[in-house]
Amino acid sequence: MKKRIGLLYGGKSAEHEVSLMTARAVTGALNFNNYEVYPIYITTDGEWRKGKRLSGPVEHVEELQFGTEQLAIPNNISDFLPTKAESEEQALDVIFPLLHGPNGEDGTVQGLLEVLNLPYVGNGVLASSAGMDKVVMKQLFSVAGLKQVPYIHFIRSNWRKSQEKLLDQIEEQLSFPVFVKPANLGSSVGISKAVDRESLIQAIELAFKYDRKIVIEQGVKAREIEMAVLGNDSPRCSVPGEIKPLKDFYDYQAKYQDGNTALIIPAEIPDEVEDAMKDMALKAFKVLDCSGLVRADFFVTDDNEVLINEINTMPGFTPFSMYPLLWQHTGLSYPDLIEELVRLAIERHDEKQ
Ligand code: ATP
Ligand code: MG
Ligand code: MG
Ligand code: MG
Repeated sequence: MKKRIGLLYGGKSAEHEVSLMTARAVTGALNFNNYEVYPIYITTDGEWRKGKRLSGPVEHVEELQFGTEQLAIPNNISDFLPTKAESEEQALDVIFPLLHGPNGEDGTVQGLLEVLNLPYVGNGVLASSAGMDKVVMKQLFSVAGLKQVPYIHFIRSNWRKSQEKLLDQIEEQLSFPVFVKPANLGSSVGISKAVDRESLIQAIELAFKYDRKIVIEQGVKAREIEMAVLGNDSPRCSVPGEIKPLKDFYDYQAKYQDGNTALIIPAEIPDEVEDAMKDMALKAFKVLDCSGLVRADFFVTDDNEVLINEINTMPGFTPFSMYPLLWQHTGLSYPDLIEELVRLAIERHDEKQ
């Protein structure tokens, strides 16, 4: 019997559009792999919709923004996410939560799926939420002894109370340029580079539009190299890939709009640097108790020092995104990667019982 895959996409986050692009590609691959796809679309307002069944690859992102039936969560949740307890026939076998950013990549939806006892692709509640919050993630990295850039973090209400003090502290502990980031986001949304006090204040105000907690990081001049991790209890790493943004840094536009950022796979780095990176990627995976998949992002300095920037628990997933490309170059095609993720989801679910 064909497996039924519930594809959850869209979502109430600034990365809504990114999820739509990804859903389109994954739908194509799931159909290719002969799964039955049940699309479930979450609007930017957080409304859940289901509609026509997608039968083939979708050409336009707009076609994914359908929705005939609407649901107020959590009233009739089983209408949307039928489980085996409700009906053997209609039950979904696996959910693919293709959601990026808060309310999707951060453990909230994973918690809902846990409560419903539905197997789902990717990371569980703890790894998702710890991986979404850059401050918690950095604190766990430091527990694992992973090298990273110096940083400072604070919440909005403290900024409103003691702006001057915080600015002095930043200038004392870090040096320009610094990167200012909302703690809980991705796709570079709300991130800017500050070169002096004036641009720092602007960058902080912008980041606070997206989150109540922000991080200020020491800017480094370094190569950006990423590695993909796949697995549950015995994860493995892909070849490394380098990102060469043709502009100042790898911002939202460079990621999804310009399309001319160079991805060099495999990255040309010495073997010992690659080994160090693998070791760090696996340590990061373990310290956050990850499962399924993770993309680990690194900085490599001129003298080949490796610093971990972050991990992403639901990385960009179009066929042109780094994560699937890294696996393709490691010998796993896009449809095979999806097949493996579905298998890992079921394995993880069974393992828990
Ligand atoms: P995603 O989840 O899409 O990978 P993100 O929103 O979590 O992105 P980061 O990866 O932390 O954001 O940063 C985005 C980009 O900004 C990096 O790829 C890099 O180009 C630049 N950048 C971030 N932090 C630094 C830093 N400390 N020094 C130099 N460049 C940085
Ligand atoms: Mg990220
Ligand atoms: Mg991300
Ligand atoms: Mg990143």
